Amino acid sequence: SPIPDYLAEVLRAVESDDSGATADYIPELAAADPDRLAVAIATLDGEVYAVGDASVEFTIQSISKPFAYALALTDRGFDGVLDKVGVEPSGDPFNEVSLDDTGRPFNPMINAGAITAHSLVGAPGVGPDLRFERVVAGLSAFAGRPLSVDEAVFASEMTTAHRNLSIAHMLRAYGVLTEDPVAVVEGYTRQCSLLVTATDLALMAATLANHGVHPRTGARVVSEAVVRQVLSVMTTCGMYDAAGDWVTQVGIPAKSGVAGGLIGALPGQVGIATFSPRLDKHGNSVRGVRLFERFSDDMGMHMMEVP
Ligand code: GLN
Repeated sequence: SPIPDYLAEVLRAVESDDSGATADYIPELAAADPDRLAVAIATLDGEVYAVGDASVEFTIQSISKPFAYALALTDRGFDGVLDKVGVEPSGDPFNEVSLDDTGRPFNPMINAGAITAHSLVGAPGVGPDLRFERVVAGLSAFAGRPLSVDEAVFASEMTTAHRNLSIAHMLRAYGVLTEDPVAVVEGYTRQCSLLVTATDLALMAATLANHGVHPRTGARVVSEAVVRQVLSVMTTCGMYDAAGDWVTQVGIPAKSGVAGGLIGALPGQVGIATFSPRLDKHGNSVRGVRLFERFSDDMGMHMMEVP
């Protein structure tokens, strides 16, 4: 297959770009090797093409958000979730302390909405431990293998989590959260600290692209209706305040994370993941964005392109 050669060539083309910087508000992430570079593409029949550091583990961070949102929709229903988290792009950075004029977080891709979505995983009244088990089991089903937490990154982020704690206290004050806000931030931060590889992320994206069925295990992870909702929100909000640039230039439903991961899920076609830790000012991977721009152009992947 010519695909691995093509992927290796595209990696080489972006390799010299060392602009951007690793996330420094999480001490453990600031210490990550910034030169890591990987791409993995998973097709819907379960083939994975992986090049570069595609079996190196890193923390999923905000790429967990669409998957946790999918679990919340599954467990609480659309109305139960929409009651507490909107679907409007905010145009704000991911860590903005903000609520819309109905007192809800704008969307589940920014931290306020993601902390809320985390709290909506599991049955009403479930405690933090069982909820976290459900989060791990759910994200593991998306990946097709058991995922585990990087305890060092979790502990590191909790030492500097003042902003997320302030968001959670605000959510509690407005009645969006009805339980201990500190425990919810801990659960959300553990969710962000799950370890994945680029190959895992490509398969997780491919499960979304494959209407909720894992292309290798054959398991139905979430319903088609849930996938449609999640991919819609990824399209409008997945790249935060760079969402407009992304959707016009790349045109693939996507989600980034501050450890340097980036996924794209093209419905009915493919799941793609890249890994490169240096971030731009929006917190999106610099080389990841460049790789996706190339894929979109070279392979005609923009969702608005007529085949
Ligand atoms: N855990 C990170 C945070 O809440 C995730 C942010 C991200 O990946 N954009 O700040």
